Amino acid sequence: DTATDSVRKIGFQDASTLRAAGGAVRIHGISKSFGSLKVLDDVELNLPAGSVTAILGPSGSGKSTLLRAINHLERLEEGFISVDGDFVGYSRKGDTLYELKEKDILKRRADIGMVFQSFNLFPHLTVLENLIEAPIQVRGIRREEAVQLAQELLARIGLSDKINAYPRQLSGGQQQRVAIARALALRPKVLLFDEPTSALDPELVGEVLDVIKELARTGTTLVIVTHEIGFAREVADTVVFMESGRILEAGPPARIFTQAEHPRTREFLAKVL
Ligand code: ADP
Ligand code: MG
Repeated sequence: DTATDSVRKIGFQDASTLRAAGGAVRIHGISKSFGSLKVLDDVELNLPAGSVTAILGPSGSGKSTLLRAINHLERLEEGFISVDGDFVGYSRKGDTLYELKEKDILKRRADIGMVFQSFNLFPHLTVLENLIEAPIQVRGIRREEAVQLAQELLARIGLSDKINAYPRQLSGGQQQRVAIARALALRPKVLLFDEPTSALDPELVGEVLDVIKELARTGTTLVIVTHEIGFAREVADTVVFMESGRILEAGPPARIFTQAEHPRTREFLAKVL
């Protein structure tokens, strides 16, 4: 298939080691409140398998909560989210509440990788140990296989020489690249990035964006909350603008960045561009 071909082209030996098939995410009419604050308000979004979606919006608009909901971390009051047709942990369709057991949530969550602003590597583990821990524990794969995948991923992100380093011995950009490799080591169908470059010194942003750009060509469904407009314009199929828990507009970057329909989108873009 095309995704596999493009993976081969950029040098991944075997696309199947890097991604599971599928990864279509459907977000249907979801709402979520914290107390009286409505943080997600009837959000509707379809992410085809292999698509790249950039989410933009002011602080507090609900971007992180939306990612957390996709990752089975939020109880929804209304609506549902599905990944390849399977409901995520706490969904509601009509009067039916789907609430998976913790064990099933953990299993399904392994299909969804998440990379945060703060790199979140295990500080007491080496790079290699960070990369093989979850594949062995969660996926139950053999150590040798996990090590081989880790080596492949490190080669991919240009950090083979850091395999035995501890996180504190790496720059922020290197740590974030390892965090991305760690998420990939679980062969996720969907990879969620929550402002992955916001905590980095400006000169380190590029190397992390380059790794994500390459991923964008491998067929993993990507959702990226970012303020990096140039990056979003280059890699995203769809740009989503959120405000006050709502999606104000969504569309291809060429349209959103040049002729946004909503005045609030234009106002926001004028500030960050
Ligand atoms: P964003 O990522 O766009 O900055 P968030 O999704 O983090 O926005 O937060 C949206 C709103 O929900 C904010 O007003 C935030 O303070 C609030 N919020 C987020 N998580 C919680 C929580 N666990 N309890 C109460 N309020 C929360
Ligand atoms: Mg956030």
